[in-house]
Amino acid sequence: MSEPMRTPDDVLATMAVQRAAGWPDWHPEDYCHRCGGRNASWHVDSDRFNAAMGPPTLHRWNGIICPGCFVELHEAATGLTATWTLSPDTPFRRRVTEEPADDRG
Ligand SMILES: [Zn+2]
Repeated sequence: MSEPMRTPDDVLATMAVQRAAGWPDWHPEDYCHRCGGRNASWHVDSDRFNAAMGPPTLHRWNGIICPGCFVELHEAATGLTATWTLSPDTPFRRRVTEEPADDRG
């Protein structure tokens, strides 16, 4: 997160302005573009994503939604329930809380 967490209402109210300005205050994937809630790093196979969201040309919400919204949309589109599996990033690492000094080589 590049700044303190915003409320979902604030995120949704300022989403278009942020996008038009090139996301000056937060990363576009920090928040769900559907509900305005905080978004985690996550992925799903593209066939499941498209089953919930439709073909890529029809993806709403800039194609950026949170896991909770995704499950809701997937269940509505397919009638299938889903269960999330949490998997630590590999190689296993701790969350970075500060930018490292210029050591990216
Ligand atoms: Zn959401």
